[in-house]
Amino acid sequence: MNIMEPDIRHNFSTELKGDIVENNIPRQVVNAHYSYVIPRIPTRPVLVHAASNVAAEIGLSEEYLCSQAFLEIFSGATVMANTRPYAMCYGGHQFGHWAGQLGDGRAINLFEVVHNQRRWTLQLKGAGRTPYSRSGDGLAVLRSSIREHLCSEAMHALGVPTTRSLSLMLTGDEVLRDMLYDGHPAYEKGAVVCRVAPSFIRFGNFQIFAARKDMDGLQMLADYTIKYFFPSIVVTGKEKYVQLFKIVAESTLDMIIHWQRVGFVHGVMNTDNMSIHGLTIDYGPYGWMDNYDPDWTPNTTDKEQRRYRFGNQPDIAYWNILQLANALYPLVEDAAPFEEMLADFEKAFEERFTNMYRAKLGLEVKHEDDAWLIDLLNKTMSLAEVDMTLFFRMLSSIKKDQYPQQILEDFQQAFYHPEQVVGEIKLAWERWFANYLGRLSHESAEDAHRKLQMNRVNPKFVLRNYMAQLAIDAVEEGDYSVLEELFTLLQQPYEEQPGKEKWSVKRPDWAKEKIGCSMLSCSS
Ligand code: AMP
Ligand code: MG
Repeated sequence: MNIMEPDIRHNFSTELKGDIVENNIPRQVVNAHYSYVIPRIPTRPVLVHAASNVAAEIGLSEEYLCSQAFLEIFSGATVMANTRPYAMCYGGHQFGHWAGQLGDGRAINLFEVVHNQRRWTLQLKGAGRTPYSRSGDGLAVLRSSIREHLCSEAMHALGVPTTRSLSLMLTGDEVLRDMLYDGHPAYEKGAVVCRVAPSFIRFGNFQIFAARKDMDGLQMLADYTIKYFFPSIVVTGKEKYVQLFKIVAESTLDMIIHWQRVGFVHGVMNTDNMSIHGLTIDYGPYGWMDNYDPDWTPNTTDKEQRRYRFGNQPDIAYWNILQLANALYPLVEDAAPFEEMLADFEKAFEERFTNMYRAKLGLEVKHEDDAWLIDLLNKTMSLAEVDMTLFFRMLSSIKKDQYPQQILEDFQQAFYHPEQVVGEIKLAWERWFANYLGRLSHESAEDAHRKLQMNRVNPKFVLRNYMAQLAIDAVEEGDYSVLEELFTLLQQPYEEQPGKEKWSVKRPDWAKEKIGCSMLSCSS
């Protein structure tokens, strides 16, 4: 194999418990952390796109990405010598309810690799059935695979913790999906993505052992996680599990703050979709805020309850963390340290959330009214449809000596219906800009300096839902150019990138109700 430093490891599968049954028939897998599986052989794999920056991080050469071996191994056609792919057993709370065993129903871990002292796990998504597939086919369609590949790398470039995506391949097979869940299934192109992360351990991996009262399995997993991923935990005994919880909870909340900063809505924040590394994982019916709306969720399955709406993501993260605490509790047998931390997190979150918004607003000094100003902004933004990304990017161009009325004039293009910004709404905006200007007068930094700082946290380019859909439509027709253009564009989301203005505009009207551009189902 043409890996520059082929330092392949098998720690998860050699140090934890394997399933004694070795077939992929769906079943309850007890007393095991994983099951060995063999990826499905695709009919005619074709490489659509490979991320050379991800390849470099894990020690794969550019040349290798073009090889037949790469095509075969990362489409599932061949199992690399001396490796044994496996699917992991996990459970989870789905939409607030305990769902029992879920597991890698269509994800298969190939192997671990250590490169530059960093450990990575490589995982295929959509490479066929496993014991955890339940009634599913273990496959993934092209549209959702493009969305995962593009968004993972866009998020990484935005500085949002995320799993990475090495490659996107067509399998040459057809996959039957009822995209709208309306009784009209149709065949779509099948695809496989290779995801990369330190590990794919989720909150749900701990939950399943706690739910089954398998204390041995729970402790093995916790000890394994600490040993390989949180070596900074040096305390021993029960205290180390409390520390594990603390690190995971903090990184999870940190990730949510990033989501709120860039306007990302995950869509399915079930506990099986929460990474132990605080990484955004499982890109399904996610979406990006076009017009700012805290009640918005792209997930049609969640249309009624809106549990996973944008504005609810912090509370849900907190709820999920609580479930992780419940799962780790049997290893500690004392609720007090968890309860104390949970209370602390709430306070810390407020503080960090406000700091994140201060940065978005270009405020370097802290002022006691900042939380009020931020809250007022969010209320004002909800009055008339205003594009979140455009708004914050434009905000950096404000000069301290401008007048609120004049600023609002300049902001016309950020509104979806500028004609609605009249009367009370106009006044509310002028009031907010007046308060903001007043607040800026306490800042010593020059306008130019503030602009530079703000443009580092307020992206110019995000993967708007309609943009991903344009890439999908083109790839379906065999044209990979839009996908490649977006991939490159989104590598530098904070740069001006002259000539690329067409990707930093409001969602076009045609996309407002189009399937895939506004609402998405879980079908993938
Ligand atoms: P998700 O909502 O994508 O996080 O998936 C929830 C559970 O369903 C996980 O255990 C997945 O592995 C499983 N799953 C989703 N889609 C499929 C599929 N097409 N075939 C088998 N399992 C699936
Ligand atoms: Mg999932």
